[in-house]
Amino acid sequence: MQILESSDAMVAWADRARAEGLTIGFVPTMGYLHEGHRTLMRHVRPQVDRLVVSIYVNPLQFAPHEDFDVYPRDPEGDTAACLSEGVDVVFMPPELYPPGFETRISVPALDQRLCSVSRPHFFTGVATVVHRLLGLTRCHVAAFGEKDFQQLTILKRMVADLGMDVQIQGVPIVRESDGLAMSSRNAYLKGDNRQRAASLSRALRAMATSVAAGQSDPAVLTADAMALLDVDELDYLEIVDVETLVPVDRITRESRVAIAAVVGKTRLIDNMALLPPSPS
Ligand code: AMP
Repeated sequence: MQILESSDAMVAWADRARAEGLTIGFVPTMGYLHEGHRTLMRHVRPQVDRLVVSIYVNPLQFAPHEDFDVYPRDPEGDTAACLSEGVDVVFMPPELYPPGFETRISVPALDQRLCSVSRPHFFTGVATVVHRLLGLTRCHVAAFGEKDFQQLTILKRMVADLGMDVQIQGVPIVRESDGLAMSSRNAYLKGDNRQRAASLSRALRAMATSVAAGQSDPAVLTADAMALLDVDELDYLEIVDVETLVPVDRITRESRVAIAAVVGKTRLIDNMALLPPSPS
């Protein structure tokens, strides 16, 4: 396994691999790797000749008041995890943007709602970093978690709109045994906040069960779910169309419920598919 620390080294490696006719798979991360990240690696590994994982905490996607400085980091643990998952290259540049970098990528139709309301610059930061990383790694396939459903939707649209020659694949959410979606930020949850955090997935699961049993009214579903939440602040709880992310009036086909809530001081997100019973 190689560790590359500069954009030039990454491009040189990728160009060589491409010249040899090898296929490249890519998993971008911000590090502090957990089972969710490892699942992305295991998903891509068998599909490609070479697997690249990036570890980079992207300053562009943090607002000044957010947790960039304290975001958990563990470069030694992360490289060990990558080694055990059969990764070929860990790309961990101290800095990813060249001096004078000015370009920003945004997908306005999809980044006006859900997380964008409280984090207005977030998805521009994400789309910009991912666009640059897809270019530097020259990858054929890149995998992203459904944990960040809005992010995945935006990145698929970016790649389609810009005609980029890369396949974006979504991977289902990996959860702790009590249902909490795995996240590097779960390390912030202390004391009983860890247990309280599981109320997000419990509420979403209750909604999925009700929808499967025939409930199709978002207002009823949302009210029932709110009663199950044990959070300090609810950012949003919305049932949306899976492609446009626009809230639906009635659940007539597969939709997605998405939530963001604060437990203690930690902002958590989660989402789940809602599948109405098939007409018989
Ligand atoms: P992050 O390091 O948080 O930026 O995440 C890197 C990638 O891992 C993103 O594509 C995330 O959606 C994905 N990811 C994070 N947590 C999970 C999870 N619990 N299950 C599946 N994928 C995840």
